[in-house]
Amino acid sequence: MSDYKLLIGGKLVDGAQTMPVINPATEEAFATCPRASKAQLDEAVAAAKAAFPAWSAKPIAERKKVLLAIADVIEKNAGELARLLTQEQGKPIGDATGEIYGAAAFFKYFTMLDLPVKVIDDSANQRVEAHRKPLGVIGAITPWNFPMILLAFKLPPALLAGNTIVIKPAPTTPLTTLKLGQLIQNIVPAGVVNIIADANDLGGAMTAHPDIRKISFTGSTATGKKVMASAAEALKRVTLELGGNDAGIVLDDVNPKEAAPKLFQSAFQNNGQVCIAMKRLYVHESIYDEMCGELAKLADAAIIGDGLMQGTQIGPLQNRMQYEKVKEFIEDGKKNGRVIAGGTVEDRPGYFIRPTIVRDITDGTRLVDEEQFGPVLPVIKFKDAEDAVQRANASPWGLGGSVWSKDIDKAYALADKMEAGTIWVNKHADLAPNIPFGGAKLSGIGAELGEEGLAEFTQLKIINMAK
Ligand code: NAD
Repeated sequence: MSDYKLLIGGKLVDGAQTMPVINPATEEAFATCPRASKAQLDEAVAAAKAAFPAWSAKPIAERKKVLLAIADVIEKNAGELARLLTQEQGKPIGDATGEIYGAAAFFKYFTMLDLPVKVIDDSANQRVEAHRKPLGVIGAITPWNFPMILLAFKLPPALLAGNTIVIKPAPTTPLTTLKLGQLIQNIVPAGVVNIIADANDLGGAMTAHPDIRKISFTGSTATGKKVMASAAEALKRVTLELGGNDAGIVLDDVNPKEAAPKLFQSAFQNNGQVCIAMKRLYVHESIYDEMCGELAKLADAAIIGDGLMQGTQIGPLQNRMQYEKVKEFIEDGKKNGRVIAGGTVEDRPGYFIRPTIVRDITDGTRLVDEEQFGPVLPVIKFKDAEDAVQRANASPWGLGGSVWSKDIDKAYALADKMEAGTIWVNKHADLAPNIPFGGAKLSGIGAELGEEGLAEFTQLKIINMAK
């Protein structure tokens, strides 16, 4: 028996097996999670398929009521959900609370959208209309860094458009998503939302499943490629939100003292485990030393600890694999640059690594060229801003990027040259539900959020009538 249940066909059920969930702040198992079998995945897809005709036939206003009720139940249970999120994910409780309320806000945002019929031509000879129809069963696959907010990129637009869904969270952070399933069991008609959990073994079966029409995937680029290859067989629609190696470019007119806290937050929020974290920072040579010093001060002052403890600013890495990976990046930083803050693991249980600043490092090293996805920031010196943009663009990824300057025209011109899905000016990693979000190059295909994100959960259908 596990402490949590799968949601299949409107019923809360045990998994075929169970698995422990580790608290990354203690390295101890703190809960037992159901683990679905392939047969249970098939049941979930069958339930979603059976629920589709009635759900998609409902007026959109009815579906909006369900989204609002979900937002409401998330808010009413925010305390419990946030605590669970911190226990399984590691982030400080304040951040977890923000993520839970953020998820509720995303549900509410989508209730403000509609899918009206667009009249393309209504002339003497013809009337042509564009309709947005639901696709059918959606497969949603999420990673372990933001289990709830990333689910809120997918679930509300999928339901609003009239689809039904099978959700699979990451194996190391399944509980908040399963808890949500329990909370919405009586809000959502049976089969419309199904939630399973796996041990990293059912993703492939989902992407290959003949009755799933679209995969909405957030995770690594390596897995994203597998998803796309597998979805090709049935020509499933895919939205892929993948990895990144966002560059920040700081021009010579920036005041290091003023900018450093914002840059630090952009790089170290959620312990750097953010797809759009600033992962390499290019700083003009005239302010380089001062900026490195300011960032090092902030890193040294950061309070590391269990996310449930009051005052913790940075929690543990989410899982052992990531912890080991980040240690390798730190070694690379020591070899190819100079560590001026952090660089050490904490001598205690839990996957703790102090925020690490590496200076005197440049492109062509692992730490600069690859996605570290953790609390270690390389700071790179540049002379010429155009050259910095070229170096930023040399990456195979293109998720986000930012330019920092007091001269907005200059910053805008450089932002225009950067290759990524989002470029910020004088900020970084700022997302909102009404702003579409997607990656360029190896960072993904398609968009989430905003009207564009909603459209990706629909099939465009034209009705073209002679008069
Ligand atoms: P991951 O790719 O290892 O796992 C993501 C999800 O895919 C998990 O649920 C996993 O169980 C599932 N999965 C594993 N194998 C699969 C397969 N063959 N087919 C289908 N699904 C499969 O990623 P992760 O390590 O959990 O997350 C970290 C990565 O995610 C980073 O690269 C990060 O940049 C990226 N990310 C991107 C965004 C974005 O919006 N672009 C947001 C968050 C994280």
